[in-house]
Amino acid sequence: MRARPLSGMLLSSLAALVLLLAGACPAWAAFSLPPLPYSAEALEPVIDATTMALHHDRHHAAYVANLNAQIAADPALAELSLDALQGQIGRVPAAVRAAVRNNGGGHWNHSQFWAVMAPPGQGGEPSAELLAAIETSFGSLEAMQTQFNQAAAGRFGSGWAWLIRKPNGSLAITSTANQDNPLMDLRGIERGAPLLGLDVWEHAYYLHYQNRRPEYIAAWWSLVNWQEVNRRFAATRA
Ligand code: MN
Repeated sequence: MRARPLSGMLLSSLAALVLLLAGACPAWAAFSLPPLPYSAEALEPVIDATTMALHHDRHHAAYVANLNAQIAADPALAELSLDALQGQIGRVPAAVRAAVRNNGGGHWNHSQFWAVMAPPGQGGEPSAELLAAIETSFGSLEAMQTQFNQAAAGRFGSGWAWLIRKPNGSLAITSTANQDNPLMDLRGIERGAPLLGLDVWEHAYYLHYQNRRPEYIAAWWSLVNWQEVNRRFAATRA
């Protein structure tokens, strides 16, 4: 008989606490972890389910949580979209710039990575428009892939390989260290609109491929979601 008023008191105390916290927090929408657009095992045998689950549920989730922790204290940063944040890293206050660069980049890079892959056989083909642009800039699709593979295999340590569309309209292959990306306004980064980005951190492939990064890169092409690459290319032409 005494349990009921006690639980009622607890509930009203909890409600008061929730209201207090809601009032104390700034009115900004924290970044959130996007769900994988397929199941964790959908990319097997190229990427195993354990790697996918760890990569998305632990690594990507940690970038999102750490990014939110950094920007919660800075209303100016909290107003920026994730895309806008990449292009303004150079203007982020020095005290938090490295953390925002690493975790904001990590969130952006992984979000594009899941979208640019599809289960084997479901990724379609480059559009006629994209293929024409690739042939203009590289000579052939194969030549572009060879250059991309070299950038991915040659990235020392951790980072990403990219196919980008440069401001002058041409396509190029580039590579960034750690969680940097071609949108960032930082010295040493070749800037452009990312059409396709490959994660070559060891956490992306080590369980299955160990030190055989080139094998992972070669197999990964069978997962590329060309429909998404086509969409990104079309968006940069607008
Ligand atoms: Mn990763």
